[in-house]
Amino acid sequence: MGAQNLQALREALVASNFAGRIAENEPLARYTSFRIGGPADLFLEPADKRSLVLALREIWSRGIPVFILGGGTNVLVSDAGFRGAVVSTRRALRLLCFKGVCAAADSGVKLPRFVLECAKRGLSGLEALCGVPGTVGGAVAMNAGAGGCQIADCLVSVEVLSKQGEVCTLSAEQLRLGYRTSVLMEGHFVVLKANFRFCQGDPDEIMRRVREAIEKRRASQPVNQWNAGCVFKNPPGDYAGRLIELCGAKGIREGGAQVSTKHANFIVNLGGATANDVRRLMKRVQDMVRDNFGIELEPELILVGEWE
Ligand SMILES: Cc1cc2nc3c(=O)[nH]c(=O)nc-3n(C[C@H](O)[C@H](O)[C@H](O)COP(=O)(O)OP(=O)(O)OC[C@H]3O[C@@H](n4cnc5c(N)ncnc54)[C@H](O)[C@@H]3O)c2cc1C
Repeated sequence: MGAQNLQALREALVASNFAGRIAENEPLARYTSFRIGGPADLFLEPADKRSLVLALREIWSRGIPVFILGGGTNVLVSDAGFRGAVVSTRRALRLLCFKGVCAAADSGVKLPRFVLECAKRGLSGLEALCGVPGTVGGAVAMNAGAGGCQIADCLVSVEVLSKQGEVCTLSAEQLRLGYRTSVLMEGHFVVLKANFRFCQGDPDEIMRRVREAIEKRRASQPVNQWNAGCVFKNPPGDYAGRLIELCGAKGIREGGAQVSTKHANFIVNLGGATANDVRRLMKRVQDMVRDNFGIELEPELILVGEWE
């Protein structure tokens, strides 16, 4: 992004009383669960909804490339970083509202917090997602899923800001939620709020299922190491982790990145891993699975920024 464009954007935001943080050349590693990633030309962390909407309108009207960052738990940011503006939702959009079996969650709300608040109220439907880190907005964009349930099961509609700068509502059908994908991944809309409908159940029973889901996760995933969840999507009728393990790829390394010894579809940052280490390791794993089974593994991770 040209320095002049950057400066003009910054000045416009300050003149419009933007509330929040504006940082230049901000390393993104600290905002990702992988703890990997080079700098964003401009990093914006709006403190309220007005400032988030203002920032996005200014960015879009100037044609500046933008990446929306939720919890950063499903991204691999390149070592070179992102040329443009990265906008974080996690400070601006944090409200939850409950009415009967319906709930509205701002997109910056952490998904585990939302699921727990639902469970306390006996609202059932997403309890298996309690251990999925990240934000509600990221979970909607990715149609996060676990333990046989997914966001699409309970989502009714979303309030979005369109690239034209308008706030509008899209139904769940309009989002075309698929396996770890939705139209939101095309970058024309940013989720501000998501509206859900649940089934009424027994809070104790729902909390029991929440605990069960978390324990299962602790037993099977490298939760104490830096990672970004499953690296590859499961191919139809199979599990990426099973195929990777059968190839003997568990534990293989590239620099500071390692295929987890606990769950073969996770790559962990042992400390000091670069995005290129992870990229090389992903390619090695894809080659091994292709050579052994003739199956092409598709990344679930979102690759962000400039790559060689
Ligand atoms: C230990 C671990 C376990 C995991 N387990 C699971 C699992 O069981 N199931 C599963 O599905 N995932 C899992 N994940 C992956 C990840 O947590 C989910 O995909 C999560 O929903 C991503 O949310 P986020 O806020 O971190 O999104 P980010 O990683 O910040 O972003 C992901 C994508 O969503 C977009 N996005 C984010 N917010 C918005 C918004 N407001 N509007 C529009 N687009 C937006 C981003 O631009 C990006 O393209 C796991 C990750 C980790 C680290």
